[in-house]
Amino acid sequence: MTRIITPPWPADLMTICRNDCAARGEPPCWQIDAGVQPHHAGYAMRGQVCADCYEIWQADHDATAKRRCAERELHQRRIVYAKRVAAGKMTRQEADREIARMTAIACDYAEQEGKERLL
Ligand SMILES: [Zn+2]
Repeated sequence: MTRIITPPWPADLMTICRNDCAARGEPPCWQIDAGVQPHHAGYAMRGQVCADCYEIWQADHDATAKRRCAERELHQRRIVYAKRVAAGKMTRQEADREIARMTAIACDYAEQEGKERLL
């Protein structure tokens, strides 16, 4: 069985593995690498899963999923930052810059989405 070493452990990978491996009648394939300490709470654990589970996870995190996620974040930022600026907790310049960066992220994924569609 091919095993994939994950980048920082995705929060939803265990759930995907539990469902997918269980559907195939196998015990969960994931193994957390206990030797790698998390840099931040909830992040940066490393581990391994079978190639099947990793493929399902990747398909769920393609450019379209990431673009939509960035667009939701952009929507939230517009609402939250407008309130912060109005309350004097953030400058207009900071708000514009952070919104511009998230817009650029959404655009990057839109571009990648176009390339993935051609594959
Ligand atoms: Zn699995």
